[in-house]
Amino acid sequence: LLLTQMDSTLTTSNGAPVGDNENSLTVGAQAGPILLQDFTLIDKLASFDREVIPERRVHARGAGAHGYFEVTADMTQYCKAGFLNTLGKKTPVFVRFSTVAGERGAADQVRDPRGFAVKFYTEEGNYDMVGNNTPVFFIRDTIKFPDFIHTQKRNPQTNLPDPNAVWDFWSLSPESTHQTSILFSDRGTPVGFRHMNGYSSHTFKWVNAEGKAVWVKLHFKTESGIKTFTGEEAAAVAAKDPDYATRDLFTHIANGGVAAWRVCAQIMPYEDAWTYRFNPFDVTKVWPHKDYPLIEFGRMVLNRNPTNYHAEVEQSAFSPSHLVPGIEASPDKMLQGRLFSYPDTHRHRLGGNYQQIPINCPYRARVQTYQRDGVVFGDNGGSGPNYWPNSFNGPAPKAEYKEAPVEIKGVVGRYGNVHPNDDFVQAGDLYRKVLTAAERTRLVSNLAGSLKNVTREDIKIRAIRNYYRADPEFGTRLAQAVGVDVSKVRLANL
Ligand code: NDP
Repeated sequence: LLLTQMDSTLTTSNGAPVGDNENSLTVGAQAGPILLQDFTLIDKLASFDREVIPERRVHARGAGAHGYFEVTADMTQYCKAGFLNTLGKKTPVFVRFSTVAGERGAADQVRDPRGFAVKFYTEEGNYDMVGNNTPVFFIRDTIKFPDFIHTQKRNPQTNLPDPNAVWDFWSLSPESTHQTSILFSDRGTPVGFRHMNGYSSHTFKWVNAEGKAVWVKLHFKTESGIKTFTGEEAAAVAAKDPDYATRDLFTHIANGGVAAWRVCAQIMPYEDAWTYRFNPFDVTKVWPHKDYPLIEFGRMVLNRNPTNYHAEVEQSAFSPSHLVPGIEASPDKMLQGRLFSYPDTHRHRLGGNYQQIPINCPYRARVQTYQRDGVVFGDNGGSGPNYWPNSFNGPAPKAEYKEAPVEIKGVVGRYGNVHPNDDFVQAGDLYRKVLTAAERTRLVSNLAGSLKNVTREDIKIRAIRNYYRADPEFGTRLAQAVGVDVSKVRLANL
């Protein structure tokens, strides 16, 4: 009865009814100072002062939706993960799409890779697939990531975007040539989030119930078809409606629509990795389809909007290290850094117990750890023992969940790319074999549009030379479009 009576009454954060929410408690009607005892006021101001949590260093701008993943083909010969073990089995998911470089309030229709992060709430814990809408990445070693992102963010002096820094870094990092060739193609400006594919990009290890391992890459193919803006259209939309992609996803689902992807895997036999013609763990490269064809095994459907943006989208915390039995890491050097860095940034952004926040909580599994205290959101382990080993029936590890063994032999060292010419092969394949003539023209024009903002001639030349090495026609056309003498691209010894 009391609850019903109180239902619509405004309260303070300690749940006490509020009598007046528009007039502070003052001494006198006119000049009186506000009293420190006005908890209604102080409670309100203090909460407001703390509303903004640190934004993600990358992927700050995002939108999300709920849905499910359904198994459409049997993959148990490759992977023992429980959520894949039965045809037709459905697992709830939450997906967050994002841009990479822009701040939280930036336009979401700019040229940038799109984050494509999926949280599967499985019965064996949460599994996160933290991918992008491109199958490759700019760099292959995580040690370069902070430098790369600094060039994508603002100049330390001017606080402005810095095309010199962007192209200085890319031109000095030839492994970025493949990814930038995709980024400056039409695929770099997708129409919203529903008309693009998602890729794990990294290689992971799948392990079956017998302990046999294979290497895997995941592909999410949009059922609504790829749709892209031209560079000019994307710039116009970003200027006119900076929230285009966020609005498109939300209103589409609010109007009863769904966004769906066919989920496919490329499977590489375990032994192939050591003899394949290039390093299959190098995230700057795809596995050609003809070598490792796509096997469709699932469908992902998004059909429900978040009810609260901050609680669900902003506080969602994905990590490629949130894995479940049957899915393990590979020796991909970019992945290895992300396994550490993602939970690290969430601890900074959301606190040490970020996995207890409702959107991140593995609610379909039973979390039983010896982790305690900090700012807790649950029962903090109740009265159970808080140490292992113990003789009080505390949760125990089970040997069946040990990772599959991997044999690695080698000499410890800091190794660069052993096959530098590899950096250009797949960018050349994309230019020559995949893009249409019109797409090639737009790629050259989009790259030239960006390179023209560079004020240093040596950076322009070095950048164009990377595309020249991918394909001489590609580099020549780019040099002409930027107004650089092509003989300098061929001969320059920078
Ligand atoms: P394929 O001809 O078998 O595959 C080419 C793939 O390129 C297509 O299946 C499509 O994949 C993707 N694609 C089509 N149009 C574009 C575009 N405008 N921009 C970017 N990607 C596009 O050849 P390979 O597998 O040998 O790959 C050749 C090149 O294709 C690679 O070097 C890479 O640049 C690119 N590519 C390859 C992918 C792969 O996983 N093998 C994936 C994406 C691109 P999708 O349906 O996934 O978009």
